[in-house]
Amino acid sequence: MSRPTNATVDLSAIHFNLDKLSKLCGHSKLVAVVKANAYGNGAVEVAKSIEHKVDVLAVAFLEEAIQLRQAGLTKPLLILQGPHKAEDLHTCKLQNLIWVMHSTWQLDAYKERHGELEKLGHKLWLKFDTGMHRLGLPFESFSSICERYQPILDSDTVIMTHLACADEPLQGHAKSQLATFLIQVKHSNFKISLANSAASIRFDQARQDFVRLGIAMYGATPFQISDNPISLNSVMNLESEIIALRTIPKGDTVGYGATWRAPTESVIATVALGYADGYPRHAPTGTPAWCNGELIPLVGRVSMDMLTFDVTNVHNPQIGDRVQLWGDELSINTVAERIGTIAYELMTRVSERVPRKYLSHKDEEE
Ligand SMILES: *Cc1c(COP(=O)(O)O)cnc(C)c1O
Repeated sequence: MSRPTNATVDLSAIHFNLDKLSKLCGHSKLVAVVKANAYGNGAVEVAKSIEHKVDVLAVAFLEEAIQLRQAGLTKPLLILQGPHKAEDLHTCKLQNLIWVMHSTWQLDAYKERHGELEKLGHKLWLKFDTGMHRLGLPFESFSSICERYQPILDSDTVIMTHLACADEPLQGHAKSQLATFLIQVKHSNFKISLANSAASIRFDQARQDFVRLGIAMYGATPFQISDNPISLNSVMNLESEIIALRTIPKGDTVGYGATWRAPTESVIATVALGYADGYPRHAPTGTPAWCNGELIPLVGRVSMDMLTFDVTNVHNPQIGDRVQLWGDELSINTVAERIGTIAYELMTRVSERVPRKYLSHKDEEE
């Protein structure tokens, strides 16, 4: 393969972040969230690397779980959206799945096949809506739902909720959601899970029995850069190379729509990566990349397969010079803020045509 574009995924950085978060979360069990192809980093590779360090792997839906089981992963798999159809439960042959149930029809469908599912080692988490208003059983009915489904609940059942504002600088909303939830659920004998990365980092009260770690494991902060309480190692380096260089006179324009005009004679570098690789088309002029120790500004529109940068201030740029769009030289959070999005979106949208390369991890004790 000759196109010099790839996403390097540093598995040892994932381990570093996971170890740091695990220490922070003390006795809480770890759910590693590997949905959406491990946020673009490669679900099978990431899951295989960290499986021994976590208690549960979480995916969004059944198809993602099937992919991991087919790849040989044996850990319990938490299915965050539960079954999409009753057949998901009626035909399922996979072992050790944990279904997050957010609607009563899902619980009814589970009840119908309870015996077989129990034999397959399936378990239940009940998700309650405490104010996010996206998924979840009505929290007002917590006691009556637990009573009604008592025959399919047991000591492994976890009561979960999701916080809407754990990543916001003002924590009033998250704290009131948290308090409402804990008051009710602490009285029951069920286990509890309510923290994503942001809540795990910020609220010790939110950690409880299981923390659900996604973005922080992948080395990005869920908080605004100015408000970030934790330092993590970058995991994904999205990189390409300069494939063409030219000097253009003052006043000439670059790219589709001729949207950028050179204020002085300028050196323009063309890089082999574009919106078809997942780099956002709406990235504005001035969005930084890294080349030879310098930050270089994007100029003109993002094309399908190419980007153009002003490298006038780079010392002696050459065809073949490495350009990093984000990673260990330039934080994905910085790039995301500049583009008006979040690190989650940048990572998950790196498209399939970008080959992933893995830097392997060795545990010290191995
Ligand atoms: C995706 C997801 C998480 C992980 O969130 P991060 O912000 O990436 O840590 C946790 N819980 C649920 C229910 C999710 O869907």
